[in-house]
Amino acid sequence: MTAPSLPARRTVVVATGNRNKLRELRALFGDLPIDLVSVAEASPVSVRVVEDELTFEGNARKKAREVANALAMPAIADDSGLEVDILQGEPGVRSARYAGEGATDAENNRKLLTALDALGPGPRAARFHCALVLHDPVMPLTPLIAHGTCEGEITTNARGAFGFGYDPIFLVHELGGHKTMAELTDEEKNAISHRAKAARALVPHLRRWLGV
Ligand code: IMP
Repeated sequence: MTAPSLPARRTVVVATGNRNKLRELRALFGDLPIDLVSVAEASPVSVRVVEDELTFEGNARKKAREVANALAMPAIADDSGLEVDILQGEPGVRSARYAGEGATDAENNRKLLTALDALGPGPRAARFHCALVLHDPVMPLTPLIAHGTCEGEITTNARGAFGFGYDPIFLVHELGGHKTMAELTDEEKNAISHRAKAARALVPHLRRWLGV
């Protein structure tokens, strides 16, 4: 009797230079027969994509398409960020460079806290948004797309040592509503985050694409 054959694994490049996103996506897609590799692992050629679209989905589509075409292999891109209601959705697609090109997470957080403090006491409702796109160069007209959001509010002080980006100043409404994203373990964040929700929404599309 022959053993049932395992589905062939696919290698997918993750169109990001952000190691935290790569780590989270590897955990989120851990049950699928795909190996996620960074651009640096996939190719000695560096690929620079200008993120100049007006939406998370537009930027994610662009990053996935350009990296997939440059490396001639399927690529997944995550474009994500923080939307603060009282700031009309800022920093939004500019989340990574809110305090300027090349700004650190600490500089972005400080700028946001200063902007909100200047408005005085009041609601600080916010959400993380994530758009995930897989672009396969052999089916260029049909990228796989999914979105996820995570509701919360901006704190007055940073708290917590895990995660990255705005995690220390984002109070998560789920899981009891008393922890910042940076106080959650990887497992807790991966249960409720915007990226986790987008990843879960993408899984059925990925399964069809993989044929599993
Ligand atoms: P992107 O690389 O243009 O998608 O920029 C994403 C930026 O949004 C990051 O640099 C962070 O500032 C912020 N961001 C996205 N996802 C998260 C998250 O899970 N936690 C904290 N900040 C995030």
